[in-house]
Amino acid sequence: MKMKAAVIRKPGSVAVEEVNLAPPKEKEVLVKTKFCGYCHSDFSAVEDYLGFPLPIVTGHEASGIVIDVGPGVTKVQKGDHVIACWAVSCGECKLCINGRENICPTNRDFIGGGTLLDGTSRLTDAEGRMLHHQTFVSGLAEYMVIPEKGAVKIRKDMPLDQAAMLGCCVPTGFGSVFNTAQVKPGDSVAVWGVGGIGLNVIQGAKLRGAKPIIAVDLEGSKEGLAKEFGATHFINNSKEDPVPIVQELTDGGADFVFEATGDTGAIKQVYWAMGIGGKQIQIGIHPAQEEIPMSLAFTPPHNRDIIGTLYGGVHVQKDIPAIADLVMDGRYIDLSKLITKKFKLEEINDVHNAMRHREIVGRWVCEFE
Ligand SMILES: [Zn+2]
Ligand SMILES: [Zn+2]
Repeated sequence: MKMKAAVIRKPGSVAVEEVNLAPPKEKEVLVKTKFCGYCHSDFSAVEDYLGFPLPIVTGHEASGIVIDVGPGVTKVQKGDHVIACWAVSCGECKLCINGRENICPTNRDFIGGGTLLDGTSRLTDAEGRMLHHQTFVSGLAEYMVIPEKGAVKIRKDMPLDQAAMLGCCVPTGFGSVFNTAQVKPGDSVAVWGVGGIGLNVIQGAKLRGAKPIIAVDLEGSKEGLAKEFGATHFINNSKEDPVPIVQELTDGGADFVFEATGDTGAIKQVYWAMGIGGKQIQIGIHPAQEEIPMSLAFTPPHNRDIIGTLYGGVHVQKDIPAIADLVMDGRYIDLSKLITKKFKLEEINDVHNAMRHREIVGRWVCEFE
């Protein structure tokens, strides 16, 4: 079928093109896209920091409705509301068996190649040349063909604009607190980067009873939403050095510091804001060609941990519907507060440039017909 899609052909911008999408093959699902959030990782993809093969149809935080299924699909059917997940695990390798599906090597092999699980693409451009899939999703398009394993069925009373964010920023932030850090009541928390992920770290920390919860961001405009999500303090690190302030508020350094910017300068601040015996939860991915010159001499004597986390350590098929329940049962913040703008696919470069200039507060979500 023909459809409009956001294609990265060269670093720095996105072309909205009419492309072709082939029908779903075995164990694949055709989804009519309803919403797709614009995540900072899409920004990184467009800027070519992530090394995805080009050309590629971008977007990875999408929700929609199943309109067709390929042979052998048993877990979803036509009419189901689904979230398209970018962590598709095999379920059989050592990591999957150990409950670490979020880092199953299946992800890496096919994400790197920009294909679905059979090593091929369903996407071609108007001239018939292959386009790559971004992380099994390619959600900035009117339709998606995704693996059944990546299609998470979601309750139908959940608004699909909010559901889209369960594809990336909500489970990543929430899971980093609940699964990776396992914050306990009374632990002190500081979070660098008040974007979609950082806000969900803050909300997760609040639900775990952390105190204080200190939000740090270069933009003062983020303070209001940070506090609404549960931050007790806000520091604008374009104006003040946050390290001594965090140390003072936490009696020497935070028990948990979360880095959700991928900025090398922020990563240094985060390390030094961590208390003795503290844990640094590294969520942001800095550009691979950059290095961070810093001393780690105090890491053993202070027993500091630096822990990387991907997708909040979630098992998507189990945890994402559970988070949907938390939201819909009123035990999580009203996620409509996170959506601060809805935009059309044609506006994608404006959205990209707004992110470049750090103008986005909350999540901007692409809306499809
Ligand atoms: Zn994302
Ligand atoms: Zn696996």
